[in-house]
Amino acid sequence: MLVPALNPKGVAEAIAYAATHGIVVAQNGTSLQGSALSHAPMTYRPSPMPAACYHEARRITPLINGMVARIASDRAYLRSVLAETAAADAGFTGRLLALLADAPREPAVELTICRYDYFVHEEGGEKSLRMVEMNCIAASFACLGSKTSDMHRYLATHPVSRTDFDLASMPVNDAMGGLASGIAAAHEQYVKRFVKGAQARVVALMIVQPGERNAYDQDLLRMTLWEKHTVEMIRMSMAEVDEFASLDEDGGLRVLSPYFGSESIAVSVIYFRAGYAPDDYPSECQWNARALMEKSNAAKCPSIAMQLVGTKKIQQHLDLEGEVERFVDSKADADAIRATFARQYSLSSADNGEKTASMAVQRPDEFVLKPQREGGGNNLYSQDLKKALETMSSEERSAFVLMERIRPVVERNVIIRAGKVSEMDVVSEFGVYGVHVRASGQDLINGMGGTLLRSKSASQDDGGVAAGVAVLDSPRLV
Ligand code: ADP
Ligand code: MG
Repeated sequence: MLVPALNPKGVAEAIAYAATHGIVVAQNGTSLQGSALSHAPMTYRPSPMPAACYHEARRITPLINGMVARIASDRAYLRSVLAETAAADAGFTGRLLALLADAPREPAVELTICRYDYFVHEEGGEKSLRMVEMNCIAASFACLGSKTSDMHRYLATHPVSRTDFDLASMPVNDAMGGLASGIAAAHEQYVKRFVKGAQARVVALMIVQPGERNAYDQDLLRMTLWEKHTVEMIRMSMAEVDEFASLDEDGGLRVLSPYFGSESIAVSVIYFRAGYAPDDYPSECQWNARALMEKSNAAKCPSIAMQLVGTKKIQQHLDLEGEVERFVDSKADADAIRATFARQYSLSSADNGEKTASMAVQRPDEFVLKPQREGGGNNLYSQDLKKALETMSSEERSAFVLMERIRPVVERNVIIRAGKVSEMDVVSEFGVYGVHVRASGQDLINGMGGTLLRSKSASQDDGGVAAGVAVLDSPRLV
């Protein structure tokens, strides 16, 4: 299909669309009062994606939601699979694992918002999905991603930017509404169970990093919650939780902060957009806040257990024979999930880690070395991978997993970053949000909550949108 030559008017239209529809990020942490915004980095056109892969990724989302929920409820499993990793990464994975004991045994209301990320890979002329990772905490960009889909549909029809792309091949994407509906449903269940008295002010709480540049993606979600569901959501950092929150006698989390009025307010849902990295815990006060929240009866998105399910170690372990099958009853469902897996390997000495490491040192371009970290920019590739594996002690090595390197399909696209345009070869990572709400052990929602496509230069190894490498995109189904 013809991609028309770049027209400066079309690019200006894209930037104007982004600015007027909230596809924006703060330029730095101190510009949050609106003094320095820029449009989020984005592609000018949607990138092509095989329709079959798109539909399959969506179809299996509730199956993966079910699997991760069952893993999260199996604390003994988490403890045993993560024991060695937790010892090697004591300051982070170890501390999270230690908090597992604090959670209520049978949570009344559970809310999970994950994002399952895939590359499309091609083998023998056939294109299929390869899972990059499961994000079980702070999966971001649902709102800016939804709006990028809208923007691409707008540009496809507007005279200054028109293409001959069929609009029907550019799916409408309401990840923003999907996430808001999940949070609102969990909120409603909480209120039903725990709130007495019609006058009480009950809010959902978003835990954020101080100075977050991606605050507008968060604000869009907060505002959608109010506009569509009349649920108030407030933002607080973990340090503020430590300062202003406490538990009442029933285990309810209460906030008494001058920023939110003079009355104490009740918290129904705690939605984490921070807490996934060691940097989010610069002192004990953040760990205290995390422990307090975990103990509370609010719906935690995620619980400590669910955050641990998202560790690279658990994902590597699931690739072993029989592991997915422990948590997925139907063989067909387990096979469908497994069909997306790339090979992963333990680097523990107990699992022959020396041999695996030397295999990777021989062929460093065929693997990715992953630590127990989130947020992009942490993995090691090629010569860095080789050097790291050659110099690490066996204990240090067990904090990492090794993954087969996926070689995603390369496409051509135009990227607009801070107003500057560049055409390049890109690879795209397709994410599907899973939304899962349970109350008293019963599923209320188990669904696909929308999608996200992010693209980056084909020459870049790693990194997401927040890490400054990838840009927002949307799929055009082919
Ligand atoms: P993070 O939690 O930091 O996002 P990811 O597993 O998603 O960790 O890795 C970050 C990035 O590294 C991905 O967005 C992708 O671009 C690249 N990456 C991760 N795993 C692979 C892989 N197996 N093959 C190729 N690239 C990968
Ligand atoms: Mg990732």
